[in-house]
Amino acid sequence: MRKVKGLSQQARDAFAESARAHLIQPWPVAGEIGAESRGGIVSGNGIYVTDIEGRRQIDGPAGMWCTNVGHGCEPIARTLYEQAMALSYNSPWYTANDPSVRLSERLANHAPGDLNHVFYTTGGSSAVETALRFMQFANNVLGRADKKMIVARQGAYHGSTYLSASLNGRPRDHDWMDSAGELVIKLTCPNPFRRPAGVSVEAFCDMLVDEFRNTIETYGAERIGAFIAEPIMASGGVIVPPEGYLDRMRALCTEHDILFIADEVVTAFGRLGHVFASKEVFGIEPDIITFAKGVTSGYFPLGGAMISSRLLERLRQSNHADAMFAHGLTYSSHPIGCAVAETNLDLLEGGILAQARANAPYFQAQLKSLEDLPLVGEVRGLGLMACVECVADRESNNPLALDLEVGKRIDAHCQQLGLLVRPLIHMCVMSPPLTISRPQIDDLVSILRQGISLTQDELT
Ligand code: PLP
Repeated sequence: MRKVKGLSQQARDAFAESARAHLIQPWPVAGEIGAESRGGIVSGNGIYVTDIEGRRQIDGPAGMWCTNVGHGCEPIARTLYEQAMALSYNSPWYTANDPSVRLSERLANHAPGDLNHVFYTTGGSSAVETALRFMQFANNVLGRADKKMIVARQGAYHGSTYLSASLNGRPRDHDWMDSAGELVIKLTCPNPFRRPAGVSVEAFCDMLVDEFRNTIETYGAERIGAFIAEPIMASGGVIVPPEGYLDRMRALCTEHDILFIADEVVTAFGRLGHVFASKEVFGIEPDIITFAKGVTSGYFPLGGAMISSRLLERLRQSNHADAMFAHGLTYSSHPIGCAVAETNLDLLEGGILAQARANAPYFQAQLKSLEDLPLVGEVRGLGLMACVECVADRESNNPLALDLEVGKRIDAHCQQLGLLVRPLIHMCVMSPPLTISRPQIDDLVSILRQGISLTQDELT
């Protein structure tokens, strides 16, 4: 592993002490709030970041699925400066700005079907929150105030605001947190690897679709406002649903006038090789698409919801066309965020999408080779997102005990060797910057292999 400049021991100690004293990081445990330091990153370049100890690491998760064009990207840095000098902010309440108008048109051209309208937010949670509040508002305006329930799935992650978090369905998400659970119905996670024993993937898909159909019958379509799905469940462990699943869920939504919200916070902006994945990869046209993360490659907090013209037309034709959608953020349509997103889109369209599409099969195949390790139950994924799921034993594929935190152990070993991993309990997620080359993919997989092997030795 290459050593580059980090911080001195004294500076590192001061950094850790100050972080412990004042910084609250996401997802802390109660006893460590205000008493924790998780190490640090001081710089980034391309697919690499450098930690405070001066170790250069491959950024395996691209931050949090977001640094799609890589770190230290000059065109984006220039845009940040130039847009800040040209117009740093305007109030979206009263005015619009050039970058947001131009970006909206470009996004509408990329989006499937009639998703021609964009409401900008500050990230993914606020994008999902916007989509859900919009559904509630629309059904109030359309005179069907009971049609508000949201169908989500076990294993999903949609955010950390109250309503978006209420949809989450991963282990531990709700152990200590309140939620708007009365509004949410959760369906089975469409994970073929964890399908019931003796059931084919096709039959499993039928079961999932039947479950949704039965749910609609049980609750009544007049009470269900939306179905929300990440096309590939990301933080739940890169769950690629069975072939045809999304299509058939979409058809049920259409049949029962339920909005299909595709949460593309992770899958958009090149992660699956296209600006949006719903149509290009899965052949579906959602009613709303939420996005964030890769839209600015993480250089500025921006997200949004693309909304269908048909839906807006219904509101225009309703008896309450004067009803106000009382929802907006100070930083909606932020000019710097939108300008960064335009440059990011230039880079994606200018070659990075094509590179991601070309390298994806190689990335998946190389990672798949890890399935020869006894600790690995399955490697799955699509595009440039993948998950290595570890199991207690490969005969049964039984999950490992939660408290072993195998993902964290693998991450710790990999960090010593030059790779950051996104640990998810007993899984490791890989979603590197889309600019990763094939030799760099080889490095990533080789380090991950070593990290898993070392962890395996530790457990036996
Ligand atoms: N939706 C999905 C699919 C996500 O993966 C995430 C975050 O990881 C979110 C929504 C929430 O986004 P944010 O953290 O930007 O609020």
